[in-house]
Amino acid sequence: MYQHLDSEGQPLPYAAGKVVCVGRSYRDHVSELNNPLPDQPLFFIKPATSLVSLAQPLVLPTGHGAVHHEVEVALLIGHPLCNAQAKDTLSAIVGVGLALDLTLRDLQETLKAQGHPWERAKAFDGSCPVTGFVKPESLGELQALDFSLSVNGQLRQSGNTSLMMWSIAELLAQMSQSFTLTPGDIVLTGTPKGVSALTAQDTLELTLHGQYRFHAQIAG
Ligand code: ZN
Repeated sequence: MYQHLDSEGQPLPYAAGKVVCVGRSYRDHVSELNNPLPDQPLFFIKPATSLVSLAQPLVLPTGHGAVHHEVEVALLIGHPLCNAQAKDTLSAIVGVGLALDLTLRDLQETLKAQGHPWERAKAFDGSCPVTGFVKPESLGELQALDFSLSVNGQLRQSGNTSLMMWSIAELLAQMSQSFTLTPGDIVLTGTPKGVSALTAQDTLELTLHGQYRFHAQIAG
């Protein structure tokens, strides 16, 4: 059973909720998938059943084509946000970590071509492995965080939250117009370019702002 943890692996007092994600947040990733640049943020939701700890071996779905990694800065929400103003949103963040927005890319392309929702490609059980969360105060400016993903020692993705098309505060405000964010919810802030497939027994290293390193293993 998944439980939100801090960076030392201690449980945090928030029940796991929904995961609200930004589909197109970094220009370089929008281009690599040949998607049009959005004029407003594209949101989608993964259910609480998508959450797993990144510290445990990750089991990939089989039989649906490529499973892509998308490394993203993850925000743990600790206070309700409903129709919030951007200036009032940052104080609701009680933890910052990293997540993999695992995506069945071939299935997603099929669903997109048919004009169908993406849930079967993005919201399956285990589709959101997350690290422990550190206190936002320990990271300083949230809109200037470096983060990266290496697979088997090769750098695949690196980004900085300063390159997001919309600020974290603006995204939280816009999300809260449609979906009340409640304590225990997580927000994924989008992925930079470099998404590609994972395979059995891959070894992953995720870094957050040069201060935190997290290791993950794809099950064999
Ligand atoms: Zn994503």
